[in-house]
Amino acid sequence: MNRFDFLIIGGGIAGVTAAGELRRLLPNSSIGIISDENYPLYSRVLLPHYVRGKIPREKVFFKDWQWYAERGIDVYRGRTAARLDVGGHRATLDDGIEISYEKLLIAAGGRPRKLPVPGADSPGVLPFRTLDDADRIVRALDGLSLRPENEREAAIIGGGLIGLEFPPIFRDRGFRTSFIIREPRFWNWLWDDVSGEILESTLTANGVKLYNSEECQMIVGDNPSTSLRAGSGIRAVRTSSGREIPARILGFGVGIIPNLEFAASAGVTCERGVLTDEYLMTNVPDIFAAGDVAEFWNKDLGRRQFLGNWMNAQEQGRVAAANMAGERGEFSLVSQYAATVFDLVVSFIGDVRADLETTVIARGEAQARQYGRLLIRDGRLVGATLSNRIADRIPIAELIKRKVDIRGSEAALADPATDLKTLF
Ligand SMILES: Cc1cc2nc3c(=O)[nH]c(=O)nc-3n(C[C@H](O)[C@H](O)[C@H](O)COP(=O)(O)OP(=O)(O)OC[C@H]3O[C@@H](n4cnc5c(N)ncnc54)[C@H](O)[C@@H]3O)c2cc1C
Repeated sequence: MNRFDFLIIGGGIAGVTAAGELRRLLPNSSIGIISDENYPLYSRVLLPHYVRGKIPREKVFFKDWQWYAERGIDVYRGRTAARLDVGGHRATLDDGIEISYEKLLIAAGGRPRKLPVPGADSPGVLPFRTLDDADRIVRALDGLSLRPENEREAAIIGGGLIGLEFPPIFRDRGFRTSFIIREPRFWNWLWDDVSGEILESTLTANGVKLYNSEECQMIVGDNPSTSLRAGSGIRAVRTSSGREIPARILGFGVGIIPNLEFAASAGVTCERGVLTDEYLMTNVPDIFAAGDVAEFWNKDLGRRQFLGNWMNAQEQGRVAAANMAGERGEFSLVSQYAATVFDLVVSFIGDVRADLETTVIARGEAQARQYGRLLIRDGRLVGATLSNRIADRIPIAELIKRKVDIRGSEAALADPATDLKTLF
């Protein structure tokens, strides 16, 4: 049986950062990664740029196989960790190979939730998570480019961050695009109507047709008599209100399912994600979790948090590795995510959940399309959502991190002319 001091399930940014950090801290340890993708580390953040042809495919890779070899990090490529035996400190791969470990990191990320409607398995219905997904999107777009102009119809389902990657991709290729979301307004649970209006007007100004408060009921195939012929392309999306929205290609993003089944069935406590404490340790001694799969205890907020962004995954990989190596460091990060939708840059910083104890200060002007919402709790800034206020990002993250008492500075925060750096 193969044996490692440190075994990591998942070869994404969390897992690979952890492997590199463990090697740095413990040069003589044995380290293994089980990765069900057959690539060295690549950036999911760069995938939309590759799909749009802004960067060549090879530029998405952040590591090559030599990097792993030089560090003595063994990789089980294209292999899945199917089972865990937490008492026996053993993982079993899909082909039955058993690997034992001293300490284990679960960094298995998540997979796209499927569209729960007839026709969702059609080849023209495209999730967007992996490099293979990106290759499929490129192939589908290339294929449709050869078809008549009147077939250049695209649709998007799901108004989350992944759904919002698609409009520029489709626009670049000359597709008329329809965007279908269940909510009455984009991210209405997360921010206010002003922010939603800025995002929606950006989409419509770029030719995207919005269908809010609509749900997809089925994907209609290109053979009307059978509604969906196996292996055929797609023709339209049928919605809850009975509309048939034309679409020859459909991009969707309706949520991520954490890859935690192998851990949950072995007795690792999971809820939305794999539960950890502030040290990223699970309920099982010697098992840690990091990245998109982890639902961690955020001591600063006094509650569990579940984040899906690159910076969080990378930093959690680093902290988990240090703790696996014997340190005892709490994970603490002012999380940030920025999405670019045409000429609009939307940023989320820190804790963007506005509950009853949260006061929200509006900063900037909707008309100028430079608008922010600053979230205050107990006299301190805890989070912000920003539309085209890029210069505010770093000072806001700093104000949150330093827990600056901003009582008395509310008017200054609301004034878009205030340089926020003067507040700390
Ligand atoms: C298109 C796209 C654009 C994005 N843009 C941004 C952005 O602009 N900014 C930002 O901050 N974030 C962005 N993100 C999110 C960010 O990429 C993720 O938060 C981050 O990659 C998560 O890293 P991870 O290592 O936790 O998980 P993952 O990257 O999902 O890696 C986990 C790996 O483990 C593998 N795995 C799962 N189960 C097993 C198993 N049982 N055995 C073996 N291997 C397994 C998975 O297949 C995967 O390869 C984007 C994501 C996508 C898809």
